[in-house]
Amino acid sequence: MNNELIFLNGKKMKAGTMYCVASNYSGHAKEMNSFIPEQPAIFIKPPAAYVADCGVVKPPAFSNLVHHEVELVVVISKHCENIKKEDARHYIAGYAVGIDVTLRDVQNKAKENKKPWAVSKGFATSAPISKVIPVESIEDLNPVFELELTVNGQLRQHGSTSQMERTFAELIEFISSVFTLDEGDCIFTGTPEGVGEICNGDIVYAGLSGLTSIRVTVLKP
Ligand code: MG
Repeated sequence: MNNELIFLNGKKMKAGTMYCVASNYSGHAKEMNSFIPEQPAIFIKPPAAYVADCGVVKPPAFSNLVHHEVELVVVISKHCENIKKEDARHYIAGYAVGIDVTLRDVQNKAKENKKPWAVSKGFATSAPISKVIPVESIEDLNPVFELELTVNGQLRQHGSTSQMERTFAELIEFISSVFTLDEGDCIFTGTPEGVGEICNGDIVYAGLSGLTSIRVTVLKP
C-alpha cells in the first residue's frame, strides 16, 4: 500500500500516526450530546488508515452507520516533543483537509460499554487526506481555513477553523507533551457540526478554502 502524503509542490512524505481531537467545535459537541473537555480528548488512527485523493473508503461489514467528519489536518515536519504553542509553526510541514471516517454505531456501543474507540475510528481507510499545502506557501502564521464537505454534490458540512475551541498550536503543545511527534504525523483538529451518514457508492468531497481538496468513494460490503 502506498501511504505517502503528497504535497501540492510535489514533495512526498510517509504518513505517520494520526492524532485526532474529539469535540473541538461547540456545534459538533452539542450534536453529539457531548461537551468541550477540560483537557483535549485525543485518539489515534494508525498510518494504514490513510487514503489519498481519488481513493476508496472501505468500512468493515459489521458497521451499519458510517459517518463523515471534515477536519483541518496539520502535518508535522520533524521529530519533536514538548513544543510550546508559540513555537508550533516551526514544526508544521503543511495543511490539508481530512475526513475522520467514523463507524458511529460501533463508537456509540464502545462509549456505552466504556471501551476504546480504536475499531470505530482507526480501521483501514478511515483517514482520507488531501494533497498537503506546504506551510511556506501560506504567509499567515495563524491561518484560518474554511472547511466544506459534500456527499454526491450535496453540502453537508460547512465551517471555519476560527470556530475551533483549541487552536492547532494549542493542540500541538498538548499532544507533543504526551506523545513524541515525528515527520509525517498528522493532527486531525476536530469537526464542525453537520456530521452525517455515508453509504455504499457515495462520492464524498472535502475542500479547504479552495486551496486543496479530496474526493473519495465509499465501498461498503
Ligand atoms: Mg473527528
